[in-house]
Amino acid sequence: MTMQETQYFRASLGMKQEIAPAIAADYHSGIVNWLRANGHELQLPGLRIRLAKEFGFCYGVDKAVDMAYEARLKFPDRRIILTYEIIHNPSVNQRLKQMGIVFLSGALKDNITSDDIGPSDVVLLPAFGVPVSDLEKLRAKGCVLVDTTCGSVVHVWKRVERYARDGYTSLVHGKATHAETLATVSQAQNRGGATIVVRDMEETELVCDAIRGKRPMADVMSLGPKAFSAGFDPELHLQRIGVANQTTMLASESLAIARRVEAALSDRHGAENLAAHFRSFDTICSATQERQDAIIALVESGDLDMALIVGGYNSSNTGHLLEIAGEKTKAYHICDAGELIDRDRIRHRPPGAKETVITEAWLPAHDLTIGITAGASTPNRAIGETIQRLVELRGLVIPSEVLNCSG
Ligand code: SF4
Repeated sequence: MTMQETQYFRASLGMKQEIAPAIAADYHSGIVNWLRANGHELQLPGLRIRLAKEFGFCYGVDKAVDMAYEARLKFPDRRIILTYEIIHNPSVNQRLKQMGIVFLSGALKDNITSDDIGPSDVVLLPAFGVPVSDLEKLRAKGCVLVDTTCGSVVHVWKRVERYARDGYTSLVHGKATHAETLATVSQAQNRGGATIVVRDMEETELVCDAIRGKRPMADVMSLGPKAFSAGFDPELHLQRIGVANQTTMLASESLAIARRVEAALSDRHGAENLAAHFRSFDTICSATQERQDAIIALVESGDLDMALIVGGYNSSNTGHLLEIAGEKTKAYHICDAGELIDRDRIRHRPPGAKETVITEAWLPAHDLTIGITAGASTPNRAIGETIQRLVELRGLVIPSEVLNCSG
């Protein structure tokens, strides 16, 4: 083996078979297995449950969680440090902590700083990736690196690197403080490119008005320092723009933002010169797109009384599933089954809210059809437990062949 191979893992550590039983025990659900095999519907007296066609763990999350378990098995006697949450799901991160994995930052942060990391440590990088400078610092420490960055995130990095190389500013539709977006803009900046992050259409309109000359360029800086690369000069850096997006944004909004920027640059420089000033590439990942399409199909079927969206409250893609569902039906974002407090009360996070709220009288006694989906970082177990809790609250019982279905 070369030095590179012994110290840096970017794919499976070759122990998938060995970890499979633990992964199944921790995250799989008989109820979800049964639903998958039976048209995604469970009919009980007075309660029909419909599961979206695509939901839960995506390929990137599967890979990241597998690699964390593999690392634990491969390096049983070494300290394993996770730089941040591996994915945005509290139960998965908590499970890793129980396995003795140490957290460098985030809600589960342990009493450790990056200065404490040494050559004998194994460092896990999360599915969102890490900024270039962090990776360089870790490489210099000589520790083993287990890099779980999702391939779809790397795909975005390649896109913004190309924008930077060709002299385009990367305009990223995302959250400026989200781990994935921080890593993405660092890739462009590392190639000498300028970056600007817009969170939504309102921020995009501000940028577009400045491009068209409808307001001073300097107004753009009101987006705040976190939105820009160092030394960002709107006069200079809004001339040539390449659009990309955080992989988990609302696909329809990302598309609309790209079209709005394109129109503004066309107005400013003339349609005939647009190619020299605008580039765009949809970098929403296929897993996000499929989950958004599936909840659209579920709520547009028109027979839901409500939808439950299961996933971490800091999970961007879960929040977007809520937004989509909420346009057509009553929808609640819950992080797990524990949020279904009782028949009268549900704790949930409304769209755009920072905190959870409790809503009363959420579960009417009449016949109900309830749709369920889950973000890309939500294990099937959390979905199954939610369904089980719902059924219990209606005073019903799930048949044992459903509960114990092995798929
Ligand atoms: S949501 Fe998309 S980008 Fe994120 S880990 Fe999953 S597949 Fe990868």
